[in-house]
Amino acid sequence: MKKKLMLSNAAIIVVGFIAAFLLAALQVQRQYQTEFTRRLDTALSILSTQVENIQREPETAATNVGVELEKAGQEMRISVIDLNGKVIGDSAKEDINQNHSSRPEIIQARKNGRGYDTRISASLNQRYYYEAVYVKDRFFIRAALPTADLDKGIHRIWLVAALSMLLGIAIVCIVTGILVYRVTEPLKQLTDAAGEISAGDYSSRVTGSYEDEVRELAQSFNAMAQSTETAVSQLISKQNQLEGVLQGMDDGVLAVDAENKILFLNQSARRLLEKPGLDENGKLEGSLLVGKIANMMKHAIESSESGKETITGAPNDKQFIVYVSPIAGQEEQSALAVITDVTRVHKLEQMRSEFVSNVTHELKTPLTSIRGSIELLKSTDRDEKTRRYFYDVLDIEAERLHRLIDDMLALSQIENAREDPSVRCCSVREELEHCIDRLKPVAEKNQIQLTLDADSTLFVSCSPTRLQQLFGNLIENGIKYNKPSGSVAVTARRQRQTVVVQVKDTGIGIAPEHFDRLFERFYRVDASRSREIGGTGLGLSIVKHLAALYGGEVGVESEVGKGSTFIVHLPLLLNEA
Ligand code: ADP
Repeated sequence: MKKKLMLSNAAIIVVGFIAAFLLAALQVQRQYQTEFTRRLDTALSILSTQVENIQREPETAATNVGVELEKAGQEMRISVIDLNGKVIGDSAKEDINQNHSSRPEIIQARKNGRGYDTRISASLNQRYYYEAVYVKDRFFIRAALPTADLDKGIHRIWLVAALSMLLGIAIVCIVTGILVYRVTEPLKQLTDAAGEISAGDYSSRVTGSYEDEVRELAQSFNAMAQSTETAVSQLISKQNQLEGVLQGMDDGVLAVDAENKILFLNQSARRLLEKPGLDENGKLEGSLLVGKIANMMKHAIESSESGKETITGAPNDKQFIVYVSPIAGQEEQSALAVITDVTRVHKLEQMRSEFVSNVTHELKTPLTSIRGSIELLKSTDRDEKTRRYFYDVLDIEAERLHRLIDDMLALSQIENAREDPSVRCCSVREELEHCIDRLKPVAEKNQIQLTLDADSTLFVSCSPTRLQQLFGNLIENGIKYNKPSGSVAVTARRQRQTVVVQVKDTGIGIAPEHFDRLFERFYRVDASRSREIGGTGLGLSIVKHLAALYGGEVGVESEVGKGSTFIVHLPLLLNEA
């Protein structure tokens, strides 16, 4: 642009100067011509008064007039030419022998009485301006002035014009260069800034001090860049928020395009699909479950319809609800899937319904027995012994119901208690002694020997009542599921930072296949025996939950026919040791 402007300005200057020069040169020429004509007219008018004299002695007359004019400072050449074109007198005494009848000024003068011409004299080799007057039927008088002055003037004009033109071009180039720089520099800065913005650097601005329209343009540009930067940063922050929400979701979220290329997926999706290698821009493939979801998404893209499916039998017996939807409003076809893991919910539902049926069953048995006994007692023909028997049955079943309800309440309280407010520092040995004292009569009744070997320096942070409930349940089971003349040995030891309480019996033992479910509610190894001896099926479940409530755990080791050992680990209260 700079070059173009410079060239066009220089061209304008050149054309302007040439036109100005031509006009000036023409003007000068015309002025010289008028001046020459006036001078030649004067000379010829004087000569015209001396016709007789010239007729007589043309040579002398021409010379004399020439001399006179030279004296007067007029360098003028006077010639007398006869009607045949022969020079009969000439003040310059030249080309006497040349025929002048064909000279333009002579031809014109013959025709009009007066004629003019400018040319280089053939004899003097100099440019002359000629004027000839026709003296009727006698001769022509011709006066000529050298045009050297005129030519010099015109040369000077050429020279001055050329120099001025060069100077003008130089000035124009400099001025144009400065002007163009002042106009193009801001434009260049604007273009650079626009380029940076389009490359993603939205903080780019134009900072120079500009004038007039360019300043307004720069201000508008900066305002536009600012609003773009604000809009983009808002968009990015919203996108980050959204991505944060999606990444933090428990549900798996993923999006794929029509080529099954992953556009987005969150951590939960990788976790639920058990495919940590899945990545954006990769293909959604790698397992049966992933393939099923990919098919659902493909179908959603092709049909533009949402879909929902429950996928069961996924790895590790998991269950998922997968919701897929085509993503509308985009040129590129894509679909979004939300994967919800419903395994736990399903399990909970299953457990709830199992629990309801178990509770119903547990309540039904004693209630049926109670109702039967009452019916039988209603009839009057029962003897006293039978009546007493049914009263005993009623007593036992009522007691069973009472225990069942107590255990259920205890279990629900423990399950719902996040923190136990009645927690305090308890001596493990003291609590075990309380349990043994309480259960001694039962043990004696069953001919079971109860022993305790506990370190007295062991303390735990628990509720004493609940701690007794925990140990009591285990010791009671040891007595209940024992053999006559058996024993239950209770020990308490310190193992690093934990207290380990073991309740070891010499009872019937438990087969290993029951270990997994032993601590579940209402799970019994031998249901009839448990019921017979008044078990609710909730004892070990309460033990497990209590141990967990105080940050501990419970385990079992057992051999059928030899006995079982229940091992409880509880965190040791160190500062009391
Ligand atoms: P229950 O009220 O029936 O005793 P628990 O939850 O305390 O309920 O025990 C669940 C089942 O585990 C019992 O029914 C019994 O079959 C078995 N069990 C518990 N403790 C022992 C043990 N020390 N020896 C053998 N079997 C046991």
